[in-house]
Amino acid sequence: MISMFCMTEEEIKIFKSDPLPLSENASLQHARQRIKKAGYWSSNQQMGNRWPIGCVALEITQRCNLDCTICYLSEKSKAVKDLPLEAVFRRIELIYKHYGKNTDVQITGGEPTLRKKDELLAIVNYVCLLGMRPTLMTNGIEVTRSLLKELIEAGLVDIAFHVDTTQKRNGYTTEVELNKIRQQYIEHAKGLPLSVIFTVTVFNENFNEIPAIICFAKNNIDVVRTVSFQIQAVTGRGVQKKRDPAITPTTVLKQIEKGAGTSINFNASLVGHPACSRYGKCLEVNENLYDFFDDTAFIGRMQSATAHLAWDRSYPMQAVKNFLKWFVKNPKHIYAGIKWAGKKLWKIKKDLIASKGRIRSISFIVHNFMDACALEHDRIHSCAFKIITRDGLLPMCIHNAQRDSYILQPTEIPMKENTKFRMPLNGGISSTKQRYTPMYQPRHKYVHLP
Ligand code: SF4
Repeated sequence: MISMFCMTEEEIKIFKSDPLPLSENASLQHARQRIKKAGYWSSNQQMGNRWPIGCVALEITQRCNLDCTICYLSEKSKAVKDLPLEAVFRRIELIYKHYGKNTDVQITGGEPTLRKKDELLAIVNYVCLLGMRPTLMTNGIEVTRSLLKELIEAGLVDIAFHVDTTQKRNGYTTEVELNKIRQQYIEHAKGLPLSVIFTVTVFNENFNEIPAIICFAKNNIDVVRTVSFQIQAVTGRGVQKKRDPAITPTTVLKQIEKGAGTSINFNASLVGHPACSRYGKCLEVNENLYDFFDDTAFIGRMQSATAHLAWDRSYPMQAVKNFLKWFVKNPKHIYAGIKWAGKKLWKIKKDLIASKGRIRSISFIVHNFMDACALEHDRIHSCAFKIITRDGLLPMCIHNAQRDSYILQPTEIPMKENTKFRMPLNGGISSTKQRYTPMYQPRHKYVHLP
C-alpha cells in the first residue's frame, strides 16, 4: 500500500510527470497497477479496466471573465498570455500519445471561450481528429446557440456549464435564482447532439440547495445528462478559504439522494479512488428517478465484460444498440441480464405505463479535489484527473498546489527545425528552455497527518 500521509512541499516540488507509455496497452496496465496499489481494484472499477484516465484538462487560456470566490486559478492568471495554438496542438498530441483514442479531453481555462473563435474551433477539431472526445468547460457567458452549432461541427461532444453562487453573478444570490441562467443555457443547447453537464462548486452557502439543483436537472432531463458537484478545495486565488468540515463526499451524496427522492448506489461504478470521485446514475420514468446501479455485482460483471465498448454520450440510443448487439453475441450474460432487467421493469412498471414506455437517464458526479496543503500520496498516485503541461501529464491537485511553477514556465513553440520558447508574462522569445524559478511561496502550511 502507498503511504496515506500527506505529501511534503519538497515532494510536491519534485513530482515528475508521467513518462510516455511504451506500448498501446501500457497506460491501461499502468493505471490498473496504480489503482491496485491504492487498494481499489475490482470488477466495478473503470480505471485500468475501461480507460487509463478519467479525463485530461487542457487549459487553453488563464484569462477569465468572472472572479469566483472559490477559484483554483493563480493570482497572476490575468497577466499570462494565451498558449500559442501550436503549443496547444502539441499538448493535444501528447495526450493522445499517452492515452490514445476515446480519451475525454476537457477544454478549459480560465474561460476557454475568451480565445478567438477560430482558435477555439481549431482546438476542438484537433482533439476530435485524433479520435478523442472534446468537452468544453465554460461559464456559458459567451456561448450562443450558433457557437454551439459551430462547435458541434468541429467535433464537440460534451458541454459543461459551470453555474453557481461562488460566481457572484449580478442579481443572483441563490442557486434557485441561478436556475434562470441554467434555463437559458438549456435553451441554447436544446435539440443539439450534445451531452449537457452542469457543474457546481459546493460550499457552505449552497450545500442546502443541492436537492433543489437536482430537482431542476430532473425537470430538464430532456437536455441535462449530468450534474457534477465539486467540493470546495483550499487552493488557488479564491477569497473563500475555509472549507466547512461538514461538507464531505458522503454528505454531498446524501443531498443528491434527497433531491433525487431515491437512494443511489455510488459504489457500483468506480472512477478511480473513491475519496476523489463518486459516480451514480438514475433512470427517469414518469418524473420519478430510480437507481440504475442498485445491483453492484451485476453492474461490476457487465462493466468488466463490456470494457472494450465505447459509449457515445451524444448518441445514447446508438450506444444502447451497440450494447444490445454485444449482448446477443455473448449469450452467457443473457440470463443475468434478463433477470436484472426483469427486476428493474417490475419496480418501475406503474411509472412505465404512465410514461408510455419513455425512459431517460441522468448521472451524478461528486469530485473532491484536495487542499493544496494536504495532498494524500495514495490519491495522487492513483489520480484519474490529469492536466497536460509543457512537460507532460500531472495530477490536477499537484498542478493546483503549485500552479505558478507551471503557468509561468516558458511556453514551447514547436517549429520545423527547433522548438522556441516564449516567456508567458512578457512574450519574449528564447531558443533555450530556461528553467522558471518560482517566486511562489505557498500560502498554506504543508502538514504531515499522523
Ligand atoms: S485531481 Fe486530485 S482529487 Fe482529482 S482524481 Fe486526481 S488526485 Fe484525486
